[in-house]
Amino acid sequence: MDGLMKTLKVLVVDDSLVQRNHVISLCQKHELESIHGATDGVDAIEKLKEQQFDLVFIDLEMPKMDGVELVRRIAADNLAQSVIILSSKDPSLILSIGTMAESDGLNVLGTFQKPIQNSDLFASLKQLRALKSKESKSDKEHKIYNRLTKQNILDGISNEQITLFYQPKLTTKGLLLKGVEALARWQHPKLGPISPVEFITAAEQFGVISKLTHYLFNIALEQKVSWQQYGVNFHLSFNLSPLSLSDKGLAENISAQVAHYHLSPNEIVLEITENAISGEVSTAIETLAKLRLKGFNLAIDDYGTGFANAQQLSRVPATELKLDRVLVDNVTTKPQQRAILKSTVNLAKDLNLTTVAEGIENFDDFQLILALKVDLVQGYYFAKPMASTELIEWLKFDLAKIRKKLREKQKLENKQ
Ligand code: C2E
Ligand code: CA
Ligand code: CA
Repeated sequence: MDGLMKTLKVLVVDDSLVQRNHVISLCQKHELESIHGATDGVDAIEKLKEQQFDLVFIDLEMPKMDGVELVRRIAADNLAQSVIILSSKDPSLILSIGTMAESDGLNVLGTFQKPIQNSDLFASLKQLRALKSKESKSDKEHKIYNRLTKQNILDGISNEQITLFYQPKLTTKGLLLKGVEALARWQHPKLGPISPVEFITAAEQFGVISKLTHYLFNIALEQKVSWQQYGVNFHLSFNLSPLSLSDKGLAENISAQVAHYHLSPNEIVLEITENAISGEVSTAIETLAKLRLKGFNLAIDDYGTGFANAQQLSRVPATELKLDRVLVDNVTTKPQQRAILKSTVNLAKDLNLTTVAEGIENFDDFQLILALKVDLVQGYYFAKPMASTELIEWLKFDLAKIRKKLREKQKLENKQ
């Protein structure tokens, strides 16, 4: 167990001593060091005001203040972020209270019938750990933001230090290679590897994003041509900054680049984030419509992280919807998340969009995505982003192994 888990602080709220001790002893098994108990909602609130907890287990039926009220108070007064809801009542009631808590802004790691099982606790703690490490990573990223200068980025381009990696997108059925997504990489000689989130944001701030985009798109197109010469053909997905969409000349420029390489726009998918289409977006829509008219495919990226609604979605001439990792990650352990995912997939299908599940990291998530009839998958479970040369090796050797491994796992599942 890593150091981070040990430092987690947990509060178990249950009026029954037996139940409380059950949860506490399970937590101890997971080597959590700081585990506290509270006997009812009032007691819990006092403790939550005194010290900060990373996770609160809440029993729904308690004297004085019940779990429903406790959940509301925690959310309203921002007393904790993550909760697990437990009850001996029927699962649909527990689930609907979980949904209420989520819409109140709490992070519900799970909703379970009592007594909670060790495997459920394990899965929930894993999610919490992922969340915590993401938070500390984004803190770190915040700190290192602004270390780049405009000149750094221009140098990174002219010295060709900034390059592209490629991550396979596979058909859910049959695991055929449908395309690759180009992802920017920068191995800086002094600063080491720099995350694309950092240098793309910096390029946007310094007004050099179109230069960077133009440079990267050329690399991607050149690469696509060279793969074709090698005899392999698949779509190329390329990320566009939302800022580029306000550039009136973008559609023309991009088309000219593609024509220069004698490629067809319908082999290219341009990805734009969901946020680019929520809010005041008429110029963005105009650019997207032009690109679509020229034959490019358009993907809405990171769907599920922003606030685009169904109407905004239907206004965009998109061809593909990429379901963000936050919707997909650990979906098997979160029933309300599964419901959101399912309705999103159905909405995308109604709008005739190809669906792509991003960030598949394990077999269980893949099984669920398969059951929901999502069209394409992308994620570390199948392949990490890799250099262009590695991709050919991966296609030749690794893909067949992955298919075989999955077939065997599925056979085993069916037997059980
Ligand atoms: P994105 O477009 O959502 O790209 C997917 C990100 O998820 C990539 O991160 C990829 O490495 C990562 N990923 C893929 N599968 C998994 C998985 O199973 N688990 C996890 N945890 N992560 C997975 P990366 O390469 O760090 O890129 C981050 C973001 O930077 C991209 O998010 C995109 O918004 C932006 N970006 C990257 N390259 C470009 C570019 O050329 N142009 C623009 N405008 N943005 C770019
Ligand atoms: Ca993307
Ligand atoms: Ca994405």
